[in-house]
Amino acid sequence: MISRVERPEAINPFPITTNRTEAEWVMRPALGPCGRIFYRRHDGKYFWNKDRPHITEPVFVSRSFIINSPLKAYFDFTNRCNLQCLHCITSSSPYADISTELPTPRILELTSELADIGVLEVATAGGEPFVHPEWENIFRHITSAGLNLIITTNGLLLTPNLVDRLKETKPLEVRVSLDGGPEFHEHIRSKIIFESYDRFI
Ligand code: SF4
Repeated sequence: MISRVERPEAINPFPITTNRTEAEWVMRPALGPCGRIFYRRHDGKYFWNKDRPHITEPVFVSRSFIINSPLKAYFDFTNRCNLQCLHCITSSSPYADISTELPTPRILELTSELADIGVLEVATAGGEPFVHPEWENIFRHITSAGLNLIITTNGLLLTPNLVDRLKETKPLEVRVSLDGGPEFHEHIRSKIIFESYDRFI
């Protein structure tokens, strides 16, 4: 589940707390372009370190800095997907066996544990996360635990209604996969859903 650790090279200059409930901002565990560090607030707002140099509210810094636990976790909570792409590294599809997947209460518990040990960010893909019947509950749980949430989706289930609900869960980023032009995208993505490029656009 936890597969990669990214460490900012610079400790942030703002007031720091290791008590997540005291924190107004959470440091994002990766440097952006130009050596910037992201900060995220629990209402979903975020900023670059150089955009707001005079912040006075406490910033949550992971205990990872102290005990060397992961700063970032990749957590794919389902293998079920509405597509069956040629390049899929998780062998996801509408036919994926979900009988061994974690039940939702354990998924929620695990994300709380990640927050407790000092993880700052959870990235999730799949499968397709929006196929999971409890995606909204899971995402809300992750962000209300103070974790940055990064979602990768194939985008085909994103209706205006779903986007409104998604915004309420306050993800930091939503990444949508597009694999080049129409022909190439269709070639690798459209085994199950035809014209996925047009639907995506
Ligand atoms: S959309 Fe993503 S998870 Fe689904 S089959 Fe394609 S690559 Fe795999």
